[in-house]
Amino acid sequence: MVEDFAAGARVGVLTAEPLDRVLDYLAPEGGCGIGDFVEVPLGPRRVLGVVWGAGAGDFDAARLRPVARVLDAAPMKAEMRGFLERAADYTLTPLSAMLRLATRAPWLGDAPSMQRVYRRGPGLPDRMTDPRARVLDTLDAYGGLCFTLGELAAEAGVSTTVVKGLIPSGAVLEEDTPRDRPYPRLDPARPGMALAPDQQQAAARLCSAVASGGYGTTLLKGVTGSGKTEVYLAAVAECLGQGRQALVLLPEIALTAEFLSRVEARFGARPAEWHSGVTMVERRRLWRMVGQGDAQLVVGARSALFLPFRDLGLIVVDEEHDSSYKQEEGALYNARDMAVLRASLCSAQVVLASATPSLESWANAEAGKYARLDLTSRFGEAELPEMATIDLRAEDLPPGRWISPTLAGAVAARLAAGQQALLFLNRRGYAPVTVCRACGHMIACDHCDARMVEHRFLKRLVCHQCGETRPIPETCPSCGAAGKLAPVGPGVERLAEETAELFPGARVAVLSSDLFTTARALKTQIKAIAGGEADIIIGTQLVAKGHNFPLLTLVGVIDADLGLQGSDMRAAERTFQLMRQVAGRAGRGAARGVALLQTFQPDHPVIRAILTGDEEGFWRAEAAERRAAGMPPYGRLAGIILSAPEAKAAFDLGTHLARNDAALRRIGAQVYGPAPAPIARIRGRHRVRLLVKAAKGAPLQAAIRDWLAPVKLPAQVRLAVDIDPQSF
Ligand code: ADP
Ligand code: ZN
Repeated sequence: MVEDFAAGARVGVLTAEPLDRVLDYLAPEGGCGIGDFVEVPLGPRRVLGVVWGAGAGDFDAARLRPVARVLDAAPMKAEMRGFLERAADYTLTPLSAMLRLATRAPWLGDAPSMQRVYRRGPGLPDRMTDPRARVLDTLDAYGGLCFTLGELAAEAGVSTTVVKGLIPSGAVLEEDTPRDRPYPRLDPARPGMALAPDQQQAAARLCSAVASGGYGTTLLKGVTGSGKTEVYLAAVAECLGQGRQALVLLPEIALTAEFLSRVEARFGARPAEWHSGVTMVERRRLWRMVGQGDAQLVVGARSALFLPFRDLGLIVVDEEHDSSYKQEEGALYNARDMAVLRASLCSAQVVLASATPSLESWANAEAGKYARLDLTSRFGEAELPEMATIDLRAEDLPPGRWISPTLAGAVAARLAAGQQALLFLNRRGYAPVTVCRACGHMIACDHCDARMVEHRFLKRLVCHQCGETRPIPETCPSCGAAGKLAPVGPGVERLAEETAELFPGARVAVLSSDLFTTARALKTQIKAIAGGEADIIIGTQLVAKGHNFPLLTLVGVIDADLGLQGSDMRAAERTFQLMRQVAGRAGRGAARGVALLQTFQPDHPVIRAILTGDEEGFWRAEAAERRAAGMPPYGRLAGIILSAPEAKAAFDLGTHLARNDAALRRIGAQVYGPAPAPIARIRGRHRVRLLVKAAKGAPLQAAIRDWLAPVKLPAQVRLAVDIDPQSF
C-alpha cells in the first residue's frame, strides 16, 4: 500500500451513495493511499468508498470521523478514477453514480481466502423431484458457474436442504476453492482458422494497431457471415500475446454461450464472463482477478466496461449499432462511446464491429476519426440473400390475416424442399390492441402510456413498458358489454396461429423473449431449430441477432413498414439495420437465401435502400438529412427528462426551464419543449422532455450544468439528463 495520508490526515472519500460530493474523513491508523477501497461511517451505517484525494477542508474538523478500515483489495488505479470522472462529466451523472457502476461486484471486503462453492457434477440423483430438477436446471442454465449455497437455493427457489440432498449422488459438487481462483490460461499462440485474403488484410491492420500500444478506434464493417468475429479474434490473440487484457462486449446475454465455446475452441480455454446472469461468487472472483491481470479476456455486457482491468489493450464492441448498448436507467450512457473514452485513457484499441454500423460510427470513419475496414463478401460459398418486396396493395389479404398469398407460396416451396422459413414480426404477444366492439374502448395500462398487449400463451394482458399483467377480462372495463372484446393487429402468437392453419403439417417454433423463462430454455430451442427440428420459425428481433440457422433459406418480413411510422429521425436508420440483419439470417448455409418484405410502400426510399443494398448511398442520404437539420452526429443533442406523479408538475418545471435558458443561449444552443417524452408515462410517473440542441463543437455539458445549477426540484419531481438520446 502506498501511504499518501498519515493517520489523522484529512482525506476525501467518494462513496457510491447518492450524494454528489466527496466527503471528508480522517485517515485511519496506519494511514491510507489514494485509490484505496475503504469503509467509512455514514450516519448510522458503514458504506464502501474510495479515497479520492486530500480532503476539501470545508467541514468542521471536530466533527470529522475516521475511516473505519482499509479493505484488502487492489487500489483503484488513477486511470480508472480518471475514466469515472470523465464519464461523469460527459454524461452529466453524479460521480457517485459512476462509482456505483464500478463497484457492482458484491462487496465482501476482507472475505476468507477460501470459500465453499456449489456447481454441477456429472451424477444424477436416483430419485428426481421437481425442486431437485429446478436446482439442476439452474446450474445448467449458468453453464458451469459456481454458486454459494444460499444463492443457488434462492435462484432455484428451493430450500438449502434440497441442494444438499443432491450432493451424495454427485449431481451437485460441493468444494472449497480459493476466493482468488485464477482462470485457465488462454493460449494466444494457437493457430486460428486460415483466413481468406480480405480477412487476412483486415486482421493484419488490427494486429498492427494493437501492437502499436496506443489508442485508436477501427470500424470493422462486414455483412453477417463475412467472418468479422474471426478477424477480431486475431486482434484479441495479438493483444493477449502482448500480455495485455482484452474485453469483448456483446449486446445480448443469449449470444454469450455460443461465443464462449468459439473462444474456447480458438484459445484452448474459456474466458471469463460478466453480465447479469453470472453468479455472485463468479462476479466477485472476476472482479478481483481482472484487477490482478489474471483474467486475460472478459466477455460481457456493457457494465464490463467498468471492471478494474490491470492493463486493458483492446475493447471489441460487437454489433456496435445495437441500441441495447445504451443504458436507459440510472446513469444514462452508451457503452460504445464509453468504450472509446476508456480506451483513449488507457492506450487501448477499440474495434467496433457491425454489418450495419450506426450513423455515428459511419460518420466518424468518414471524418477520419476512426479507421475503417470492410469485409465485402460472405465467407466461403455462402452468398447474401436475394431481396424483394411483396406489395401488399396488390395482394388479396382478408382482414385478420397477415401472410400474403405470395409469401405463403414461397414458404410452401421451402417446406417442399426440406428447408426452413423464418417469418419475422417485431411484436411480442398475440395482438397489440384489445378493443371493445361495443364502445370502441382500447384497454390500456393504468400506470403507463401504453396499450395492454394480449398474451394468449400466458392467458393475460401485459404492459410492455412496466411489465404489469392482468387476466383478460370477460367484459369491457369501460361499458361493461360482455363478449365484445376483440384482438386487433398481429403479434407473433397470432401469426403462429395463422401459420398453423396455412401449413397444417409444418412444425412451427416461436422465438420471442417472453416465451422463455430461462436462458437455458431459449438456448435449447435455438439449438433445436439449428438442428432442423422446426420448419417454420416465427420470431421477434430476438432472431435478428447473431444466431446461425444453416437450413434457413427464406425470411419473410410480415410488416416492413412497422418501424417507419412515427416521427423519430432515427427510424430510417433503425429499420434499415433491422431489416438487413434479419435478411442476413437467410442462406447462411450452402443454399442461397431469399428475403421477402411485405410492405404497403415499396417505393419508400428506406425500403428501396434495403432492397438494393446500396448502403453507402443510404448513409449518405441519411447523413445529408441530419446535417441539414443540425441533428446528431452533425449536431449535439441532450434530453432533459422530468418526471412526476402529476403531469402538471413536470410540465411546469419544464416550461420554467425553457423560459430561463440564458446559459444555453450563451453557447448558441436552443431548447425545445417541454413535450411528452418518448415514453410518456411509466409506472405511474408522467415524463416530459426538453431537447437541447447545440452545434457540434459547443460546450454543451458545461452550459447544461450552468443552466440546471439554480434549479430547485419541487418535491416529487425528478430530473435526469440524457446526453445523446436514442430517439429524437
Ligand atoms: P460474422 O462475425 O461476420 O458474422 P463469423 O466470423 O461468425 O462472421 O463467420 C461466419 C462463419 O464463417 C462462421 O461459421 C465461421 O466459423 C466461418 N468462418 C469465418 N472465417 C473463416 C475462415 N477463415 N475459415 C473457415 N471458416 C470461417
Ligand atoms: Zn404499464
